[in-house]
Amino acid sequence: MSKLALLGGTPAVTRDRKDAFKWPIITKEDEEAVLEVLRRGGMSGTDITKKFEAATAGWLDMKYALGFHNGTAAVQAAMYGCKVGVGDEIICPSVTYWASVVQAFSLGATPVFAEVDPDTLCLDPKDIERHITKKTKAIVLVHYVGHPCDMDPIMKLAKKYKLKVIEDISHAQGGLYKGRKVGTIGHVGAMSLMSGKSFVAGEAGMFVTNDLEIYERAIAFGHYERFDGKIKTAYLKPFAGLPLGGYKYRMHQLSAAVGLVQLKYHDIRMKEIQKAMNYFWDLLEGTPGLKAHRPDKNSGSTMGGWYFAHGLYKPEELGGLSVTRFAEAVRAEGATACGPGCNKPLHLHALFNTCDVYGHGKPTRLAHTKRDLRQLKGSLPVSESINARTYGVPWFKKFYPEIIEEHANAFKKVSANYKELLKGDKGNSRDLGGWHFFSHR
Ligand SMILES: *Cc1c(COP(=O)(O)O)cnc(C)c1O
Repeated sequence: MSKLALLGGTPAVTRDRKDAFKWPIITKEDEEAVLEVLRRGGMSGTDITKKFEAATAGWLDMKYALGFHNGTAAVQAAMYGCKVGVGDEIICPSVTYWASVVQAFSLGATPVFAEVDPDTLCLDPKDIERHITKKTKAIVLVHYVGHPCDMDPIMKLAKKYKLKVIEDISHAQGGLYKGRKVGTIGHVGAMSLMSGKSFVAGEAGMFVTNDLEIYERAIAFGHYERFDGKIKTAYLKPFAGLPLGGYKYRMHQLSAAVGLVQLKYHDIRMKEIQKAMNYFWDLLEGTPGLKAHRPDKNSGSTMGGWYFAHGLYKPEELGGLSVTRFAEAVRAEGATACGPGCNKPLHLHALFNTCDVYGHGKPTRLAHTKRDLRQLKGSLPVSESINARTYGVPWFKKFYPEIIEEHANAFKKVSANYKELLKGDKGNSRDLGGWHFFSHR
C-alpha cells in the first residue's frame, strides 16, 4: 500500500463523490408541497400536520401521533405525558445529544445518568436498576446514532418498577429491534425531524403512542388549539382552552408538507443507506482496530437510516494509537467524516452540577431533593471514556460501490500503516467529542 496521505502520500479517496452524501434528498414533489401551503397562507394551520401525523401513525402502526415544531419539544411533551413532574427522576444515557434529557429541568424533574453499553453505545440495561429510586418516573433511552437499544430487558425493568419508557428515536426512525420498529416498543416514541436527521421534515418533531392519556396530556401541555371539549381524559377537561405548559408547540406547516412527502420515500431511501453502510462495514470486517457499530445480521435488528454513523475503535490493536491521530490520518486520505469521538458525556457538564437555572438558590439538579444527585468525574467510567473509542464514518446515502470501496480503503490503509503514526501521536484531547451533527461526509 502507498504511504499515508498524512505523511505525504497519495490520498485513498480520489473519485468524484457525486451525490453519495447529499442529504436531505429534496425533489420537485417536496417543493410543490411547500409552495402549495405557502401560496394559500397555510403556514400556521394544522390540516397538513394532521395528515402527516396520520401517515406517521400508520407507518409505525400506532394509535396516536402528535406533531411539534422540533424534537426537543416532542421529548419534553413525552415527559409531561408520562407525568414526569416536580421532584421526579428520569434515567437516561449520559452519552447523547442534550435534547434527550435537559427538558426534565423545565418540568421540575432531574435526569439521573446511567452508563452506555460500549458496543451498542446505547443505554446499558445492566446499569439501570442501581439508579432506580422511589422518585424514578421514566426511562428515556436513545437509539444512539441509529443503533437499536436493547429493549427487552429495559421493558422488563420498567414493568417491575412501574416506570414509563420514552424512546428517543431521533437517530433511528424506521429502524428495527428484533423485527419491531423502534419507537413502538416503549410507552411513547419521540423524534426530531430536523434537516440533519435520517427522517427530515425540515425543522420539526413528532411523537407516537398508543396511550390516550399520554397523547392528551401532551395536547394539553402545548397544543392549545386542540385542547378543547373533545378531550376524553376527565381530569384535563376543566382546563381546556389554554395550554397547561404555557407553550405553543404546533408544527410549522411548511415542514409538515415536506415531512409528508419525505415519509413516502423514507423506507426506500433507508434501504439504500442500509445497503451502502453494510457494504462499507463488510469491506472493513477483520481490519485491526476497527469494529462495526451495527447489530448482528441475524438479530432482526437494523440501523434504520444510520444517522451520524460511527465506528468502534480498539486502540489496543493498533499499538495504543489515539483515535485523534487515527482519525486525522483517515481524513487526510479523503474520508472527511472521520472525526474522533461521538458525544461528550452530559453528566460532567456544569449545567448538571453547578448551574442554578431557575433561581432556586442552589443547583437546579438539587432543587427538589435533599439527596446529592450529582454525578462527578469517575461516576460513569464507560461514558467518560467512550469518546476515545469511537469515530465518525462516512454516512452514505447512495449505494455507489466504487466510492464506498475507496472510503473503506482509506480506513484500511491507516490501520495497516498505524506504526508510522505512533511517532507524533499527541494523544486525545481531554475534551474529546463533539456537539456538531452536520459533517455529513
Ligand atoms: C436532534 C435530537 C433531538 C432534538 O431534536 P430537535 O429537532 O433538534 O429539537 C433530541 N434527541 C436527540 C437524540 C437528537 O439527536
